[in-house]
Amino acid sequence: MTAIAKNSELHNQMGQWRRDLHAHPETAYEEHRSAAKIAQLLTSFGLDIDCGMAVTGVVAVLKGNKAGDKCIALRADMDALNLQELNDFEHCSTYQGKMHGCGHDGHCAMLLGAAKYLSENKDFAGTVVFIFQPAEEGEAGAKRMCEEGLFDHYGIDAVYGMHNWPGLAAGKFAVHHGPVMASMDVFDITIHGRGCHAGMPHLGIDPVAVSASVINALQGIVSRHLDPLASGVVSVTKIHGGDAYNVVPDSVTISGTCRSFNTQVREQIKTQLAQRAQSTCQAYGASCEIDYRNVAPSTVNDKSHAKICAQVIKDLVGADNLELEMPASMGAEDFAFMLAERPGAYIWIGNDANAGDAGLHNPHYDFNDDVLALGASYWVALTKHCLQQASS
Ligand SMILES: [Zn+2]
Ligand SMILES: [Zn+2]
Repeated sequence: MTAIAKNSELHNQMGQWRRDLHAHPETAYEEHRSAAKIAQLLTSFGLDIDCGMAVTGVVAVLKGNKAGDKCIALRADMDALNLQELNDFEHCSTYQGKMHGCGHDGHCAMLLGAAKYLSENKDFAGTVVFIFQPAEEGEAGAKRMCEEGLFDHYGIDAVYGMHNWPGLAAGKFAVHHGPVMASMDVFDITIHGRGCHAGMPHLGIDPVAVSASVINALQGIVSRHLDPLASGVVSVTKIHGGDAYNVVPDSVTISGTCRSFNTQVREQIKTQLAQRAQSTCQAYGASCEIDYRNVAPSTVNDKSHAKICAQVIKDLVGADNLELEMPASMGAEDFAFMLAERPGAYIWIGNDANAGDAGLHNPHYDFNDDVLALGASYWVALTKHCLQQASS
């Protein structure tokens, strides 16, 4: 049984909020309009709010009307992508080159819907904290909120996240009892050769040719070095170098990302990347500088909290609509930083089974408004489950 019925007044309101956010997408730490709108709505529901954590974050606190010390947090991300939307519906992005291509507009609307419902139905014991987080897409807004004291300030005991999942049918959920999203690191390898006349390559050291060999060497990390039963990705995504047809450039920079699910594999990839880049460059008489940066650790659900979420979902939509065996994703998620602070779980809500053409980060993607009531009802049910009785 869902708390908020499909096509109810609140469902329709969530749809309006969602489409308004979609039409006005803002990227990392610039979510000023979105934050103002969210803050205004939360205030209108009668919640206490704090603005400005991690620049544009909004946090709201709601106490139940039964006595209880327990405090849980529910998190939505607010930011959009630097992506030109290619949809042509009415609520299409009105900002050039920016798009809600990951459904964070829907995440905000679902959490707002839950906040409104719970503010009118406070039959729970304890406190629920609603976190509207900026800068999820590669800028680690979650980390910044943690560093600014989010969890201690509000006395949060557990934290929960939810992401929409194209490829999983609307009406379904997926829960992982362990790793759910990969760690993300990024790298820039600058290969220094010696520039020369392109007609006289023997007078220089060609970093373009060296970069080709380095890329090949990097491909061997996963295929030849990692245990075949371990999971890892090394993707070279950028190559920059050279300006002319007749000049061998002085340097070339190759960049990319590495993904994995555990710290051992993450370290192996990092070490191998450095070794392979340096020794390949050395073989050609070139050298390289490597800038390797850890962006987010792997998102790993706490088993007991994943179990709580699974139970709540079974009660909500039945066991047939709960997927427990979906493979984890090599996408990354900065919610990992929150799970490093407090136990909790991050689950997926189905967006559309037929996601072939318009998955996450695709210019044709759109959040499915049909699931707004269901997602908000999950937040409500989770809150009531976790805060059902007074704790001492
Ligand atoms: Zn995304
Ligand atoms: Zn996302």
